[in-house]
Amino acid sequence: MTLFPLFADIKNRRVVVVGGGSVAERKINSLLAAGAQIIVGALTFTEDLLRLKGQGAIETITGRFEPAWLDGAWLIVAATNDTATNQHIARYAQQRQIFINVVDDTQLSSFHVPSIVDRSPLIVAISSSGTAPMLARRVRERLEAFLEHSLGPLAVLAEKYRPAIRRMRPNLRSRRELYDTLLDGPVAAAMRKQQGLLAEHKLIKVLEQAEAAPKGKVVLVGAGPGDPGLLTIKGLRALNQADVILYDRLVSQEILALARRDALQIAVGKSPGEDHDATQQRIHDLLLTHAKSGKYVVRLKGGDAFIFGRGGEELEFLSEHNIAYEVVPGITAALACAAYAGIPLTHREHAQSVRLITAHSSHHDDTHDWRSFAQGKQTLAFYMGRSQLPWLSRQLIEHGCPGETPFALIENGTRSNQRVLGGPLKDLAALANKYGFEAPSLLLVGDTVKLAENLHWFGARINARTNSHANAAVAEWVMAA
Ligand code: SAH
Repeated sequence: MTLFPLFADIKNRRVVVVGGGSVAERKINSLLAAGAQIIVGALTFTEDLLRLKGQGAIETITGRFEPAWLDGAWLIVAATNDTATNQHIARYAQQRQIFINVVDDTQLSSFHVPSIVDRSPLIVAISSSGTAPMLARRVRERLEAFLEHSLGPLAVLAEKYRPAIRRMRPNLRSRRELYDTLLDGPVAAAMRKQQGLLAEHKLIKVLEQAEAAPKGKVVLVGAGPGDPGLLTIKGLRALNQADVILYDRLVSQEILALARRDALQIAVGKSPGEDHDATQQRIHDLLLTHAKSGKYVVRLKGGDAFIFGRGGEELEFLSEHNIAYEVVPGITAALACAAYAGIPLTHREHAQSVRLITAHSSHHDDTHDWRSFAQGKQTLAFYMGRSQLPWLSRQLIEHGCPGETPFALIENGTRSNQRVLGGPLKDLAALANKYGFEAPSLLLVGDTVKLAENLHWFGARINARTNSHANAAVAEWVMAA
């Protein structure tokens, strides 16, 4: 962050504007809206500015800039069309440590004026830190369309009832729930129809209902594979309500950054030396402690909680202890990696079914039906397979899978560092070592994988079709994001 955003109270404070043209006029109008006491110095003034002076809304000084104009100013706006004058003013402002905005000159400015979406008293300010005003404007357009006009009157209503809300909802969690009703429920609906009185009436009604003792609950949220755009809206909402977030190692930082700022975030991945059961026990204890103390707990897992995520075990535990829960599905790695590698998991010609398989089971407790995996016309998706690749490919081939069956290994799927490796199944382990693929990686096997060579879209492909054996039926390729 190169600029610190702040909202300044300039009511009845002296702001000096140098320049009397239309650019100055625009700035003056927004400064006036915030109640500033404005002195405008210039050689000439627009008609509108003269009218404002006539109304006593601004003071004017006619003449060339003089440093004495800046006496007593809290802020300065330089809006002359003369660069030398602007530089001159900026220098004085700098010497006197008064914040200055030189219109359209980020170098000379010590404060920038953001693009705003005005739903007063709610104001959204957007800045590109002077790098791309066009971008800020685009974002503003989107927000204009997205933020309902009723937000302004809603904020006024919330302000009016704030003391009452504090008094009648002393518990933070139920207060937050009340604000949710205010913003999403019947109060907002009435305001949207511009029925302010009805909205107020509805708010009073909700407020008068007795405060229920907050009950803890756990929401099991699938965070998806990494790209924060793949989090569901419901998952995002849960993250914004959470008091406590217990997250796994696979959950990306970008997604955690979307959570409520004051939520307690606890990493609950397996610590070194700890076995899986101990980790799971620790998670269960944390879930129980926080939910029992009335907290809204989000259990955030990579991908989907019900696909190799031990989500089922956690729910069994919660159910045993009578803790309320909800489940928000996430996009599982197989779906996401396939999509971001351009591999349709089913295809009328190549695959009529998809299997999601854990490669975690070792040689000893292997209960997989390898023969059925080796049958064609399906796509196999192996999770947790990075360290098992030699065994996986050997098992498949021994049970009848042709060594030329194409595979794709997707490392860090959907993330900015995604890589995809392709080749024939028989070379799987060797190629993965050659290119240094690491976890998390998802393995796809089947004829649909071939389609990636044409259908890939995410990231650039490097050394496409690097072919170690000139006559190989399946090419070796790697693409990186
Ligand atoms: N519940 C998760 C899976 C957890 S098991 C889900 O639904 O996706 C962990 C395995 O998932 C990893 O070993 C890897 O095989 C796969 N995986 C998860 N995220 C991945 C990603 N971004 N890219 C590639 N594989 C991923």
